[in-house]
Amino acid sequence: MMAISGKTRVCGVIGDPIEHTLSPPIQNAAFSHLKLDFVFLAFHVKAADLENAIRGMRGLGIHGLNVTMPHKSTVISYLDKVDSAVKFLGSANTILNRDGKLSGFSTDGVGALKALRENGAELAEKKVLLLGAGGAAKAIAFSFAQEAGSLCILNRVPEKAAVLADALNRMFGKKIVGGALSPSAVQKNLRDADILVNATSVGMHPTVNQSLVAPQWLKPNLVVMDIVYNPVETKLAKDAKTAGAKVISGVEMLIYQGAASFEIWTGRSAPIGVMRKAALNKLSNTGENK
Ligand code: NAD
Repeated sequence: MMAISGKTRVCGVIGDPIEHTLSPPIQNAAFSHLKLDFVFLAFHVKAADLENAIRGMRGLGIHGLNVTMPHKSTVISYLDKVDSAVKFLGSANTILNRDGKLSGFSTDGVGALKALRENGAELAEKKVLLLGAGGAAKAIAFSFAQEAGSLCILNRVPEKAAVLADALNRMFGKKIVGGALSPSAVQKNLRDADILVNATSVGMHPTVNQSLVAPQWLKPNLVVMDIVYNPVETKLAKDAKTAGAKVISGVEMLIYQGAASFEIWTGRSAPIGVMRKAALNKLSNTGENK
């Protein structure tokens, strides 16, 4: 890390709980690699203290923040400006402080899109099957809907998938459908899907032996992105690899969404390899969460 000086810019992440965050090692490795006079810290902020924390950001001139659970939605009311993704999602994960004016961004969707692209998969004309309609799934659906040939969203609570599909169809005029996440629906939709994204928490530690997709439904010409990153290789990822499919791990989305935040704060291109190494190092040492 660079020596702290009177000019060091402070960035950080706020959440509750926060002690298991992976963001400090990832962001500090990137600042250090580019010799930027920035430091990244974790702040434990309880829900009742959020307004004061954001006042503190303005008062202390904290340059940038990542925002995680449980503040992603509530933080919006304290910001001056938000991007189109934040408006659609109703949640923000990144704040930039420009001379006391706070702008909110959501980098999960662009992070997932970049994770796909930079790993050699394209979305145009492709049939995408998305499992889940929670916070991360919604962000992914928003960024994928604009480019994919078609998008099918399946969720345990089908109404949530249907509402999301309707909102996206109104916005982008594309063929997006939402339905129930049943084994038969997954099997049926996988038959002609090009890209499968697991955006549920199934497979995440401690349910590491679970997957919503039976191994025999996977095929070699499929791209499988599992956004769960703890463990780095989920059961779905292992099964997909065995089936000969192309696998993109959740660590890729984690890095690219962090890289997008880094670029918002610094205006510099993020050193992806350095960030990936820091994330994998931390995950292999501790198995901790973002
Ligand atoms: P969330 O609570 O908003 O959504 C969880 C989703 O999982 C919902 O759609 C829910 O219906 C579904 N789900 C949970 N258990 C299920 C089950 N047994 N069967 C079927 N569906 C089930 O959470 P989120 O913030 O959207 O995060 C989801 C996962 O994505 C987590 O594991 C999180 O760690 C991971 N994530 C990864 C990244 C990344 O950068 N790689 C970013 C955000 C979230």
